[in-house]
Amino acid sequence: MKLSVVVPCYNENESLNKFHEQITKELKDNKITYELIFVDDGSRDDTLNKLEVISKNDKCAKVIGFSRNFGKESAMLAGLENASGEFVAIMDADMQHSPKTLVEMYNKLLSETDYDVVCAYRSNRKEEGTFKRTLTSLFYRFNNVVSDVKLLPGASDFRVFRSCVKDAIIFLPEKTRFLKGIFSWVGFNTIYVPYSPEKRLYGKSKWSLIKLLKYSLGGVVSFSTKPIKLLFIIGLLIFLVGMLNFILMGNLSHRTIILFLSIIMLSIGIMALYISRIYSNILGRPCYIIRKKLGFNDKKKN
Ligand code: UDP
Ligand code: MG
Repeated sequence: MKLSVVVPCYNENESLNKFHEQITKELKDNKITYELIFVDDGSRDDTLNKLEVISKNDKCAKVIGFSRNFGKESAMLAGLENASGEFVAIMDADMQHSPKTLVEMYNKLLSETDYDVVCAYRSNRKEEGTFKRTLTSLFYRFNNVVSDVKLLPGASDFRVFRSCVKDAIIFLPEKTRFLKGIFSWVGFNTIYVPYSPEKRLYGKSKWSLIKLLKYSLGGVVSFSTKPIKLLFIIGLLIFLVGMLNFILMGNLSHRTIILFLSIIMLSIGIMALYISRIYSNILGRPCYIIRKKLGFNDKKKN
């Protein structure tokens, strides 16, 4: 039984050697057959060079190098598409996901034959600022009311799953991907295990507030048409209130007009989110472009 560990890397130059050393030790100590699939997501630092050296010296380490930065979602997809194990795991390269926890999750999946996915969820977010914590919790609440796929608050991409789950995920043709939602959408029995991410030892998080907001909105748009359908009801309400106002007062006050205009602008914004989604899917551009592949036996490049 082989475990494929997919590791998306973007500017992780400083942590890679240590990460490789620790994960290798843990997997070997536990006598697990494995392959490591590092996906360099167009890093601007020395990440790709470090990965090349790692793959030269370790036949279990494989490397996929992108032509530019395509984002973590694309890096995870490329890793999954190239994974050949009966079990697959996704974990970060920055050592916030501990190799020990990975092995525990793998063993859990081995023993629980009725389950197909083990997902780690953040049991405490104390290290994050109150602002980010509040926003995150608001997102989960909003998502779970609005969206057709429900997300467990704190559920991460740190998961181990059977290859049938991987096959279902890579079968989906959508171009703008939100893996947490996709995991929920494809179903399969999932065990959630609590974990506290380690502190980032090197480099810094790639997530800015704007990126997180874009990512969260994208997640909702990917799995729900409720916001756009709600526009119809809002439009109807505005129309009724406007008519009533006009009949009773003979005209619309400035405040009412400004309120209506802002609701219309917001509605156009919501529609734009969906239209941009349709647009990028119609263009059909690939989620990533591979520049280099190392350590794989097949000669397929892209
Ligand atoms: N990552 C990536 N492409 C990106 C951003 C991040 O492959 O455009 C990788 C990154 O190298 C790390 C993982 O995704 O292995 C998680 O990123 P990060 O640590 O910045 O996220 P956080 O832990 O803060 O959620
Ligand atoms: Mg991290």
